[in-house]
Amino acid sequence: MKAYEQTLNLLTSLNLKGILRRIDEIVSDAEIRKDSYVSFLNNIFQAEIEERARRRFERNMSAAHFPVIRKIDSFDFGRIKGICKSEAVNLLDCRWIDKNENLLFFGPPGIGKTHLSIAFGVTAVEKGYTVCFERITNLFRLLKTAEIQRTSEYRLRRIMKSNVVIIDEIGYTPIEKREANLFFNILSELYEKSSIIITSNKGFDDWAEMMGDDVMTTALLDRLLHHARIYNLDGESYRLKEKIKDEEV
Ligand code: ADP
Ligand code: MG
Repeated sequence: MKAYEQTLNLLTSLNLKGILRRIDEIVSDAEIRKDSYVSFLNNIFQAEIEERARRRFERNMSAAHFPVIRKIDSFDFGRIKGICKSEAVNLLDCRWIDKNENLLFFGPPGIGKTHLSIAFGVTAVEKGYTVCFERITNLFRLLKTAEIQRTSEYRLRRIMKSNVVIIDEIGYTPIEKREANLFFNILSELYEKSSIIITSNKGFDDWAEMMGDDVMTTALLDRLLHHARIYNLDGESYRLKEKIKDEEV
């Protein structure tokens, strides 16, 4: 067997896909540059590390279940009050995740709460963190079916292990007593272990009514607010603006 074929076989057996993919290029570069053995070794290991990071990113992006991909650079901060560009850019370093801080976005529909939560989630995945996005209605479905559906149980386990859990659209639909209890339990379990991003059209004052239980809502908000950055957003609905703009054309 030729030496080159043997190299390919060894890389395949060791499952070093990153090196396998770039071996020809790295070997010929090393020959041209007359690289030392050590720098050649560094280059092949670097190729494997880059490939593993790329694969982890793809796996984590698909496991995040983002409904769409949104970025901070496509967000127009001039349209809304409650968060400025420099604050948002500061959050991109993801230190809030290391500190298990929560981000809470409040405000009327169409002003970019979901956009921002996804953008911070995508940045977190890019930095190597695990993220799960769920609309609250789907989170309730998962919690209620976990005991009878393997897929729900699997998803919930993933949510509980994530560095960041995004819970979107709290407040649009009424919450049953049982759902409120399940929600309290999940937030208690995530407390100080993960970062939580929530978006809601209802302010805290309306949460007790929404949850149907004052005592539980106080305990829930206590945990959620303990290490939290709160953004009360306001402005004109982007959806309505876009619609009016389309109609004018
Ligand atoms: P909300 O969650 O507050 O109801 P969304 O985040 O779903 O609002 O925003 C509705 C649509 O408008 C999305 O397509 C979003 O990307 C866009 N959008 C909202 N606000 C902005 C903004 N300030 N700049 C750019 N796009 C925006
Ligand atoms: Mg939304």
